[in-house]
Amino acid sequence: MIHGERTRLHPGTVCILSAPGRPFDGDMCVVEKYDSARSKWQVRLRAPEHNSKQLLVPEAVMRLAFCILPSSITLLKRHAALRDDAMQGSCGRGFILGGTDIIEKGTVLYEEPPLFITPTGTPNQHNDRWRAYLTMSMSASEGQIGMPEALKAFDDLGIADRVQDSVTAAAANIVNDAIRSAGASMSVGEREVQVQRVRDALMRFQSNQFRFENSAVPDQSANFSASAVFILTSRLNHACQPNTFVDTKKAHFFPGSIVKDDGILTAKALRPIEPGERLTLCYGPKDLPSWPLQRRREYLLEKNGFLCCCALCVAEERDGPSVVVRTGAETGAAASVTEAPGTAPIPVTAQTVTATPTLTPTLEDKEEAIRRSFLPSFLQEKAGARTGAVAGASVVAKATSRSKSGSKSTSSSEGRTRA
Ligand SMILES: [Zn+2]
Repeated sequence: MIHGERTRLHPGTVCILSAPGRPFDGDMCVVEKYDSARSKWQVRLRAPEHNSKQLLVPEAVMRLAFCILPSSITLLKRHAALRDDAMQGSCGRGFILGGTDIIEKGTVLYEEPPLFITPTGTPNQHNDRWRAYLTMSMSASEGQIGMPEALKAFDDLGIADRVQDSVTAAAANIVNDAIRSAGASMSVGEREVQVQRVRDALMRFQSNQFRFENSAVPDQSANFSASAVFILTSRLNHACQPNTFVDTKKAHFFPGSIVKDDGILTAKALRPIEPGERLTLCYGPKDLPSWPLQRRREYLLEKNGFLCCCALCVAEERDGPSVVVRTGAETGAAASVTEAPGTAPIPVTAQTVTATPTLTPTLEDKEEAIRRSFLPSFLQEKAGARTGAVAGASVVAKATSRSKSGSKSTSSSEGRTRA
């Protein structure tokens, strides 16, 4: 990752600029590098009409839109044998430890960078995430390197049992906006199909996200408050007595530096794990394992959208609270939960999230991204020919693929919401 003034970003990250009175106010730009001598980011404007114009901008006028990292496919390192677990959880997409040897406590199971990094706790988070998904979908359909595999990995992630109302509302708004802006008509049935499609994509982000720390300083701007989705980690299911915890590599923060592997997530054994055991994480706070059954279930249902039926919960439901409970300390850096959609994020460790005005994409920008998202193919082609949106997406995908050689940094794994 590239270290800027206070925030670290992968090359190719898409941001939105706030520059009132300037022609690119509200436009998307692609992060290229940080100029430490001038204390500014070098970015390239993304809209075709700007002809890839480069700008030097202060960090304060930038807001995270999304980052796509198809390199997460090639940089993923498995250190232990993992087998798919078709029976795990409600989604059936977890992992079982393979091989024949017991894995000792502290052993590294795998390492992986994020697949997506998107805003969290912002008014625009769902629109930004939909735009990220569309960009990946379009890039995959164009056959850009790594994108078809990345899209498949994302689409293969599970969705929590309970769909939050705010996600449903956001999906409906996205579809309605697109219909309106395209001047198209759509039957009730077809509209419902499209709303479902958008809702599934948004829920896939919502159900599989981990808090991603992209700043080394405590007063990070909310403009960069982010969460990440991972190919493997996002598939690990919750248990109130987990056997796995995740940690993130963090490099010393130095503005202008480019740090490889910064932000790579590492999964380790929290205790000895036997072959055939399911890998599990605790999605809640460190002391969740010591909570009473009802409090745990209420918390996980509220924050993560599922009724926990892990081994501990089932045993306590059957036998009462006499089951040995691991202490909070044993859960180490286990994931904690993300915020409910549309609300302020739960602060990460000692981090203070400063409330700053959130920028919004221009209407035109929003429409172009969204219009292509779901309309029948003839409308997509028409929209693409007019707006050049495909070309824009292509530029971003190329830029993001470069990040495989220049990353290093942050992700902190907290907060995820999946059964
Ligand atoms: Zn449980």
